[in-house]
Amino acid sequence: MVSLGLEDKVIVVTGGNQGIGAAMVALLQELGAKVAYTDIKIGEDTSGALAIQADVTDLTSMEAAAAKIEEKLGPVYGVVANAGITRDNFFTKLTPQDWDAVINVNLKGVNHTIQPFISGMYERGEGSVVCISSISGERGNVGQVNYAATKAAVIGLVKSLARETARYGVRVNAIAPGFIDTEMTRIIPDKVKEKIIAEIPFRRFGKPEEIAWAVAFLLSPVASSYITGEVLRVNGAHHT
Ligand code: NDP
Repeated sequence: MVSLGLEDKVIVVTGGNQGIGAAMVALLQELGAKVAYTDIKIGEDTSGALAIQADVTDLTSMEAAAAKIEEKLGPVYGVVANAGITRDNFFTKLTPQDWDAVINVNLKGVNHTIQPFISGMYERGEGSVVCISSISGERGNVGQVNYAATKAAVIGLVKSLARETARYGVRVNAIAPGFIDTEMTRIIPDKVKEKIIAEIPFRRFGKPEEIAWAVAFLLSPVASSYITGEVLRVNGAHHT
């Protein structure tokens, strides 16, 4: 019997309260990991994971969450920077607030998520970081100039950080999901959705679980031990 080697590994997921993050929390626990998740607000938790309210835009809040997680679960092996938001509009209508909100969560938030854990990973000589980018960061998208800019920036962050962390045995990768059926995409008007689906060779949006499996693969010290600085597309052939 082979396994992904995630049993008893401590893994942290940001934005784990719903959507793709919640699917990761569920799957990683099924794979035997000790999972903690953070979110800006924690709903009624039924996942069985350690749930901590923390805001990724605030480094102090994330440092406090990291301390609690390590105290309760032990040293962290895996970090998934998943929390993200959209503030979509045409470029001429994007306000400075729309830019700041998206940059603070989607880009600075990734830094605030990784920073509290990385030195410990270096000391232990192991760790895996997965950042959730987006198809929009790779190919651009109308109405998402701010969002796409942050998701492209995350790819640059991942590729650079992977070069820094390799000597410590720590891997850093990104996943670029296509359109996935969550609250984030439920706001897309039906007519626009139909047009998007017509462009996707699989003729459907992805499911959160399909991203969660890709995350498990990239976290796995068994399945992806020689993969770092990579961007894994999970998009039903909706390529750039
Ligand atoms: P959801 O909106 O369903 O979930 C995102 C979670 O992050 C929410 O629980 C949200 O809380 C939380 N969050 C927002 N702001 C903060 C913050 N400041 N601190 C902590 N948590 C926060 O989105 P998805 O599950 O769809 O998206 C997950 C990731 O995948 C995001 O990075 C997204 O950009 C990316 N992605 C999604 C795609 C899709 O089609 N759905 C496609 C490509 C990438 P709240 O709801 O209260 O704001």
